[in-house]
Amino acid sequence: MAQSAKRDYYEVLGVPRNATQEEIKRAYRKLARKYHPDFNKDPDAQEKFKEINEAYQVLSDPEKRKLYDQYGHAAFTAQPGGEAYQEVVYQNIGDIFEELFRGFGFEDIFEKATRGRRREQRRPIKGENIVYTVELSLEEAFKGTVVSIPLVRDVVCDACGGNGYDASRGERVCPTCGGKGEVVQRQFFITIAQTCPTCGGEGVIREPCPKCRGKGVVPQREEVKVKIPPGVDTGSKVMAEGKGHAGRFGGPSGDLIIGIRVKPHSIFERRGNNLYVDVNIKLTEAVLGTELDVPTLDGGTVRVKIPAGVQNGDTIRVEGKGMPKLMTEGRGDLFIRVHIDVPKLGFMDKVFGDGRKIKQLLEDLDRLLPEPKRIRERQT
Ligand SMILES: [Zn+2]
Ligand SMILES: [Zn+2]
Repeated sequence: MAQSAKRDYYEVLGVPRNATQEEIKRAYRKLARKYHPDFNKDPDAQEKFKEINEAYQVLSDPEKRKLYDQYGHAAFTAQPGGEAYQEVVYQNIGDIFEELFRGFGFEDIFEKATRGRRREQRRPIKGENIVYTVELSLEEAFKGTVVSIPLVRDVVCDACGGNGYDASRGERVCPTCGGKGEVVQRQFFITIAQTCPTCGGEGVIREPCPKCRGKGVVPQREEVKVKIPPGVDTGSKVMAEGKGHAGRFGGPSGDLIIGIRVKPHSIFERRGNNLYVDVNIKLTEAVLGTELDVPTLDGGTVRVKIPAGVQNGDTIRVEGKGMPKLMTEGRGDLFIRVHIDVPKLGFMDKVFGDGRKIKQLLEDLDRLLPEPKRIRERQT
């Protein structure tokens, strides 16, 4: 290391030789912010940042500062063994490895690994999602609807703008780290610095915002209106982007996720995009055939031809009268399930009035009908 090129530490921090610890700290913080490589893309920023840190390590420590005032840079470079000695302050374990691997072609890997980690604390965090379930009628699922959802969601605190502290009451130096933002552990000849747990590395303690108590967000009651598209079914999810809880550190809000449950309908059964409706027909209609007006879910009816000879349990398909297909064109089908209403004649019906007449007609009919094959063969 070319010692002659080393600048005076006071000059580096831009403070007079009789500067107080407080002035040194203030000067350091200002410069560190300015030259931090995460913010300053100038190629010289990193060197500058190192230089600032080195100066601060010495001048912020009263003992080291005294040595420096007496001996200058020599205080920290000359050792009895004759070998240049530099006390290295490592930011964290990762930097130790970084130092060890430098010059072995691992620079790129380290650049990525350590950069990613360092930014972690400041990286914007997306807010949490809110999950809510709504129950819809089949008609609502058919047409689509707008649901109004009462929520309590975290929104960015307007008193502090989301940073969680009370700007009007200023800040004080963190008692744990004395404003350095890191706590130092010494092991043999290396010094490991870790982010201060009290202040999170900021070096200062701020009064928490009285409105949000430092959280940066406050709960807010809100009525959120969400459009539900036609065709949703039980288990469908509709997302209202950004209507979840507010993010942290400038991150985006979470989403409101609406789970759908469709209530059973009194006449329609839904299977996917198809609808089923059950109709009863008379015995004679089954034999002779007929036409029926069958209700559809859109509130209208559809005229359906029941062919002569229809069997109990047969289904008749009406194309395009089922549920709308979610997010695409077209509709499913409507299936008409036919049930033959077999008249049940009680004792009195068989003896008096119409009942007696029906019985006689059916007995005549019975004699005319051909004998069916009695035992059905299984279809294998
Ligand atoms: Zn606040
Ligand atoms: Zn601290």
